[in-house]
Amino acid sequence: MSRYSNLSHSELERMLSESERLLRADTDSDTDYLLHNLQLHKIELEIQNRDLMESQKELESIRDQYAELYDFAPVGYLTLDKNGIINNLNISAAGMFGAERSHIMGRPLSTQLAAGMGRLLFDHLRQAFSSDQKVTTDFILKTASKGITRYVRADTIVHADLDSEASCLMNLIDTTERRRAEQAVIDERTFLQHVIDGVDNPIMVISLDYKVLRMNDAAKRVANMQKIDLEHACCYQISHYRERPCDSEDYPCPLKIVLQTRLPSKVVHNHVSEMGAQRKFEISVSPLFDDHGEIMGVIESAHDITEHLELLEELKERQLSYAHLAQHDPLTGLPNRLLFADRLSQAIHVAHRNKTKLAVLFIDLDRFKEVNDSFDHSCGDAVLKETADRFQALFREDDTIARMGGDEFTVILTHIKKDSHAALVAKKLLNAFKQPFKIKKHKLFLSASIGISLYPDHGDSVDELVRNADTAMYRAKEEGRNTFQYYTLELTARAFERVYLASSLHNAILQNELILYYQPQFELITQEICGVEALVRWQNADLGLLAPDKFIPLAEESEVIGEMGAWIMKEACQQMKTWQESGVLRSDMTISVNLSGKQFDHNNLLEEIEQTLTATGLSPSCLELEITETTMMRSTRGTSETLGMLRKLGVKVAIDDFGTGYSSLNYLKQLPITRLKIDKSFVSDIPDNLNDVAISKAIIAMANNLLLDVLAEGVETGEQHQFLIQQGCRVGQGYLFARPMSSDQFEAFIQQKLQD
Ligand code: C2E
Ligand code: MG
Ligand code: MG
Repeated sequence: MSRYSNLSHSELERMLSESERLLRADTDSDTDYLLHNLQLHKIELEIQNRDLMESQKELESIRDQYAELYDFAPVGYLTLDKNGIINNLNISAAGMFGAERSHIMGRPLSTQLAAGMGRLLFDHLRQAFSSDQKVTTDFILKTASKGITRYVRADTIVHADLDSEASCLMNLIDTTERRRAEQAVIDERTFLQHVIDGVDNPIMVISLDYKVLRMNDAAKRVANMQKIDLEHACCYQISHYRERPCDSEDYPCPLKIVLQTRLPSKVVHNHVSEMGAQRKFEISVSPLFDDHGEIMGVIESAHDITEHLELLEELKERQLSYAHLAQHDPLTGLPNRLLFADRLSQAIHVAHRNKTKLAVLFIDLDRFKEVNDSFDHSCGDAVLKETADRFQALFREDDTIARMGGDEFTVILTHIKKDSHAALVAKKLLNAFKQPFKIKKHKLFLSASIGISLYPDHGDSVDELVRNADTAMYRAKEEGRNTFQYYTLELTARAFERVYLASSLHNAILQNELILYYQPQFELITQEICGVEALVRWQNADLGLLAPDKFIPLAEESEVIGEMGAWIMKEACQQMKTWQESGVLRSDMTISVNLSGKQFDHNNLLEEIEQTLTATGLSPSCLELEITETTMMRSTRGTSETLGMLRKLGVKVAIDDFGTGYSSLNYLKQLPITRLKIDKSFVSDIPDNLNDVAISKAIIAMANNLLLDVLAEGVETGEQHQFLIQQGCRVGQGYLFARPMSSDQFEAFIQQKLQD
């Protein structure tokens, strides 16, 4: 750069013309030098001129660039004076106002703003001019012709450079789109809120820490009732008025369920309202996922289903009552023909599967038509109702007794163990007519005829069993009414005997028809008497002397066994004591008394025995109780305990009919027993049946090993006698030595023995 470069253009021009003037005035020897200098100046000037031109151009280009940047910046720039008059603005700003720049320049900014914005602008400028801080305000622009409201955000700061005239610089950012997007979100939210508010049931959006993020009006109402702070409410406070999350079965936690399953779910909560009313709520809950598929909470809605459930319950009851009507007889309330057939078919099914028997009883009232014809129909109805009531009183709830129509009734008896069982029930039904029917001041004496068919003997279908029971019923009518008949004659005969025996059993005790027979027990080697077994008999007026097998099972069925057992025990002990005192038997000998299963299970067995021993004065060691192996095996009370107590009393205990049950050696070892009695069925085939030989041998060996006494029943031959001695059996009982006999015969037998 030359040394003149700091001079302005006009100064250089002035220096040049001064040099020329001096040149013309002074013509001395330095003229060449001067000219040369001048020449140099000129060249320098020209260079400078060119530089200047270029700089000027560059400046202008930069200025144009800035002007363009200024004009088209995405931000509006305004320069305003203190009164808000627009001194300058860029094209973007003019664009925001929707007008030409020239039209706006020099006019107040307020004219570009929406009505009512003046005050805001005034405050904005006042604040800006009174500080050197940036001031920010949102303005609404004057609505353009398209009617779209535009929003701007103005940042204003006082213009520091222009200190002569106070002015400020304002940046305008068009926020219309952003505002519109924000507004859209707000509108959407409001819309959604309106939607959930429109739902009657409480809805809550719940975060993972049980906080309620959003709720509808219904939920708010619940919360407000409990004065819960909506900002910090937890779901369990609102739904259950409690201070900890739901957990029990009554309140399964919906959030936990969704976290486990990640699926929508439904639970029912039992609520007790503040007034104490019980309500049931169905809570529907769905997971709320974030953008990454993680559960961020749940949406829960509660629906009071109390009335709904009550309605369902009512409906169910009604359905049941319709079903009941369709299947029951309206007069008596008993199952009708339809239900009867259904139940019988099921019962046949079960009996088939379990290989058990069942019986169908067909009952027809005798001369019912006469009742109906002689009196009005309401009398007939009353008789049928009364009959149904009397029948029902005889059965358990699960027995089926039905009215087939008219004066016909049917009964299903399941699990009958013996064919004759049905006859006992038939007898009970007939007895139900013994009392006269008192209807409208009339006393009516009625009876019925009953037919019995058995499954599977008389049929294996509903139709067949009913038809055959019906046929049998007609035979009962022919037999003179007020009776029953089986479908087969042979069964009827047998059943009659049982029914007869069962009904006269009680009298047997009262009328002293029971007697004890005695069968002596012998030392097998010496053949000396060492004890005696008491065996009961029934001396029946019509049927003669009856063996225990005929009536003991009947006594067990009808509970007479208690009374009978007590009588036998007392009679046996008394007889033994008498024989000991009179020297017929020695005082170290025992009398064996059989106990039935029912007796063994009875609670006061021990007391009864104790009392009998005291009353008769017999020593406990002289009494042996025989309990069959099967009874011991299936006894309902603790067999071992009962036996233990009996042993404590001092009496002996023998297992009767040993070998017929299936007791294990292990079980046997634990029982406090004193003797095994080998069942006569094993003894009777010795020595021909090798199996029986082996079993007898094994029982004797086992008894000896367990240090138990062993007695063989039913010894009938010398061969059996010898075999038993060889095997080590000590005692025997059987026709070979003596049959059971009456007490008189027994005394005579002993006398005879003594004489031999
Ligand atoms: P049990 O206790 O096994 O009695 C033995 C049965 O075998 C008796 O029949 C007896 O007469 C019979 N017997 C004895 N020796 C022989 C023989 O050599 N050959 C044959 N074939 N039989 C023989 P009973 O008196 O008819 O008694 C039958 C069952 O009735 C008894 O079997 C017993 O279980 C029961 N029983 C008898 N008396 C009573 C009693 O007073 N109370 C109870 N609950 N049951 C009794
Ligand atoms: Mg016995
Ligand atoms: Mg026996």
